[in-house]
Amino acid sequence: MEVQPADFDCCMFLWRGALGWKSMNQPLQAWRDTLEELGVMGLVRETAAPLPETRQPRAAEAPRSPAAPQQPTPKAPLPAPPPYVRPSDPVGCPPPEIVAGAKDLGELQRAIEGCLACPLGCGRMKFVFGEGDPRAQLMFVGEGPGRDEDLQGRPFVGKAGELLDKMISALGLRREEVYITNVVLCRPPDNRTPTPSEAQTCLAYLRRQIELIRPAVIVTLGATPLRELVGVSEGITRVRGQWKRVTVGGLEIPVMPTFHPAYVLRQYTQDVRRAVWADLKAAKEWVDKAAGGGA
Ligand code: URA
Repeated sequence: MEVQPADFDCCMFLWRGALGWKSMNQPLQAWRDTLEELGVMGLVRETAAPLPETRQPRAAEAPRSPAAPQQPTPKAPLPAPPPYVRPSDPVGCPPPEIVAGAKDLGELQRAIEGCLACPLGCGRMKFVFGEGDPRAQLMFVGEGPGRDEDLQGRPFVGKAGELLDKMISALGLRREEVYITNVVLCRPPDNRTPTPSEAQTCLAYLRRQIELIRPAVIVTLGATPLRELVGVSEGITRVRGQWKRVTVGGLEIPVMPTFHPAYVLRQYTQDVRRAVWADLKAAKEWVDKAAGGGA
């Protein structure tokens, strides 16, 4: 006997009547049971469940021959990177007597710009020596070059640099009249803080820059130059605005710690801006006093 659609409708009607509409939502098994009870199971073709969608392999991904089953290749552990070896040639790693003997900033720059004394040297695009007036009375020391500085070979030329420029001109000075440099002269990867070892390796260069420039005041920007140059590790929020001192080449130089311009950009509140402005004004007053012979 072949079941006609009308018969099927009749079955469904009986089934609905027997079980009620609610049961329609019961699992498929309930339907099968009912059809079995009615003696029509096997006469009704169940609708095949739709097959899960399969992606047809493209020609380039034709299945491999069963004769060559793919064996999972065990992953060999990556070899450990070789330890960093400090180069010993006088250009890659200038000896201290060359640094100490540089008679001016140009000579110092030529001596150290090929430096590979710490791992940062291998990652730089450009060495960022520092720039400004070689006889500047006001010197700014930041943390280390960022991406823009690394590309251009100049300190503070990115967003933080734009703000620093504004601060300098608010003091009535031009960028060329001050000196701007950093604790490390090569960009740390991902703009991370230089490690104490990287900073201490570069410190000889910064100290020689300071010896040659002999500024009246140094403004440290952020916690890193304060810690690495001056040896003060307290939080910058607590110590900013408080005079410190650093002795370089027998010269004692007043240091004014303030926030890093990048921090000011992140925390652009009136309090932070007022604090930085007060610190810079104090530094400039000292410079003016020194120029007038008062300091
Ligand atoms: N931040 C620094 O500390 N130095 C730069 O030169 C630029 C950004």
